[in-house]
Amino acid sequence: KRNMSGSKFEYVKKYELPDPLMLGTFIVFRLDGHSFHRFSDEHNFTKPNDKRALELMDHAAKALMEEYPDIILAFGESDEYSFLLRKSTSLYNRRQAKIVSTLTSLFTSNYVFHWPRYFPDTQLRYPPSFDGRIVLYPTEREIKDYFAWRQADTHINNLYNTTFWALVQQGGQTTTEAHATLRGTVSKDKNEILFSRFGINYNIIEPRYRKGSIFVRTEIPEELLSSQTQTQEEDSEKSPNLQLEEERRPELEESTGNSETTTKSSKKK
Ligand code: ATP
Ligand code: ATP
Ligand code: MG
Ligand code: MG
Ligand code: MG
Ligand code: MG
Repeated sequence: KRNMSGSKFEYVKKYELPDPLMLGTFIVFRLDGHSFHRFSDEHNFTKPNDKRALELMDHAAKALMEEYPDIILAFGESDEYSFLLRKSTSLYNRRQAKIVSTLTSLFTSNYVFHWPRYFPDTQLRYPPSFDGRIVLYPTEREIKDYFAWRQADTHINNLYNTTFWALVQQGGQTTTEAHATLRGTVSKDKNEILFSRFGINYNIIEPRYRKGSIFVRTEIPEELLSSQTQTQEEDSEKSPNLQLEEERRPELEESTGNSETTTKSSKKK
């Protein structure tokens, strides 16, 4: 017998399983460049930190936030970006595969689309790709710790990479030698190598390299809204006025137990 709604083949649809994300949880979506060790090499990224590449990542992240109002915060470092969605989001009915695939795809296409603007002198040699995943968190505590974790990772990686490339570029070591020099060292040792051998004060290295990039969606306070027509004010009540605020250099106080990752100030766009 044939299914009323389609062909005799339609039954295959029933093999598709639902994948809803639990209600009442925070959704964190993270993507990461696939094999960017190779990608950065083949596209001659400046080591340890290519600013153009980081700015391109930021651009793609912002494009995602502009397309998806339910993203309320983003944190980026290296070839990765994390996005926090509102707890109450009903984006794609909270279907996991739909959210992960669509957001990863839009980020990737933005990365490629805007590549020439950040790398005017470097042709893309092959199409880059990103992996994506979602993790659910029950409370704000885990969310703060999640972003503190990513930012601590930024710091650890950057201190290592900065010292590594100083040993190679200024110290004349091979990459193998530099790895060997750094084996078993702790942060204090790396700071010492940087300062005594290369005159580099790690603490004054550009904050975005040490701490990553953050975008926070903020509501524009009522009093800051310029005089508008009645109609616009009514519209703005239905969907609250939001703007993207770019914030850099969020101070992370790892040791004090203060895991606030979105300390105010810094430059705005
Ligand atoms: P995977 O596919 O498992 O993610 P990967 O090669 O991308 O592998 P990651 O751990 O994600 O490994 O590390 C990304 C690498 O890309 C860094 O180690 C660094 O070599 C390079 N990279 C990413 N962004 C930059 C940048 N802005 N400047 C210089 N190098 C970068
Ligand atoms: P969703 O985001 O849910 O997938 P959708 O608008 O992409 O929504 P689909 O069911 O995927 O809906 O259908 C894709 C639609 O895109 C088709 O119905 C058709 O209108 C259009 N489309 C796709 N490919 C072509 C094509 N090669 N020529 C003309 N139209 C196309
Ligand atoms: Mg990895
Ligand atoms: Mg990667
Ligand atoms: Mg990575
Ligand atoms: Mg479609």
